[in-house]
Amino acid sequence: CGITAFTGQTSALPFLLQGLEKLEYRGYDSAGVTLVDSQGLNTYKVKGRLSDLKEELKHQEHHQSTGIGHTRWATHGIPSQLNSHPHTNRSNTISIVHNGIIENHQAIRNYLKEVGYPFVSQTDSECIVHLIDYYYEGDLLEATRHALKYLQGSFALCVVSLDHPDQVIVAKKESPMILGQNDQASFCASDIPAILEYTKDVIVLGDDQLAVLKPGSIEIMDFDGTLVELKKQHVPYDIAA
Ligand code: GLU
Repeated sequence: CGITAFTGQTSALPFLLQGLEKLEYRGYDSAGVTLVDSQGLNTYKVKGRLSDLKEELKHQEHHQSTGIGHTRWATHGIPSQLNSHPHTNRSNTISIVHNGIIENHQAIRNYLKEVGYPFVSQTDSECIVHLIDYYYEGDLLEATRHALKYLQGSFALCVVSLDHPDQVIVAKKESPMILGQNDQASFCASDIPAILEYTKDVIVLGDDQLAVLKPGSIEIMDFDGTLVELKKQHVPYDIAA
């Protein structure tokens, strides 16, 4: 399973797909991406291989410069198109990808269903996007931070929204997440080889840390909002080769 995300001045899709390919060794049963522009969120997902996702994507040009990508190793809910990530909220304005397991997903699901949220998948992950939607009042970072307080278990998480088309919110607890940036873009992935073509200076996101990626800037903070210093590590050789 794996995650990639990108926001920059160029098309996001090439980064997302090359990164997911480099993460294939982690294993997966389905794959998907959400591409963001100010007109809307476009989500493509398939049960099967990355080559099937590429087939699905090839009918159109994709110039969006912000996006998130996912390969899924199913833990809750069978491998299927509906259960694959990204998962979106009911108004299709927020989209998330998640690796890990949300232990208390049933309790969150029960509550959100009671207050009217329609669930379309059997995954533990889907509750995350509805919970962010529940707390959303115009600030994606605040809503994500609020939702994180209630999530138990392990997660590497990326969130994008229609209202913040040049932003990716990233959060991590007990699942890996690596960040990087260059002059044009900020990006992240589950493992170093997925970003090495774009930079050799990597930032390892810590447990209980959040990052806000924008083109040309990365901010890292604790879940309570306290800013954390960026520590870049230089990868001296091409370990992806
Ligand atoms: N638990 C989530 C699911 O089954 C994420 C699995 C993963 O890490 O790929 O959809």
